[in-house]
Amino acid sequence: MSHSFGVVAADRLGRMSDPSIFTRILTGEIPGEILLETDRVFAIRDINPQAPLHALVIPKSEQYRDVTELAAGDPELLADMVAAAKELADAYAGGEYRLIFNNGARAGQTVFHVHAHVLGDIEESKLVGF
Ligand code: 5GP
Repeated sequence: MSHSFGVVAADRLGRMSDPSIFTRILTGEIPGEILLETDRVFAIRDINPQAPLHALVIPKSEQYRDVTELAAGDPELLADMVAAAKELADAYAGGEYRLIFNNGARAGQTVFHVHAHVLGDIEESKLVGF
């Protein structure tokens, strides 16, 4: 496997690993719609949307696997993610939004590079009533 952009990540033991699917989108290695980018976070449209607005807000760093680790390790970065979610809601969903973090496979997490699901215009979606 080639790393055309030279992007690699280190896990908590310092071992190098392949970049996550989200990092590959950020670097342009695979296609994706980037909705927002700041110095520390970026957002993409989810490939399998569950509501008219379904974005993923992702730290550029792959250091944290889930929000539990992120909140303990860098609460300011977590606050940056919430601010980005609000910005997306303002731009695409009238300023209101639902924020979901899946934490662990038994809770539905499939990508272990922490990310927030930002859902907007819920009444148009199958999430109504939850
Ligand atoms: P999780 O299940 O880990 O909380 O969320 C992972 C999300 O990433 C899923 O909602 C899934 O649809 C999305 N996803 C997986 N692969 C891709 C991809 O290649 N592009 C985009 N835009 N989203 C993806």
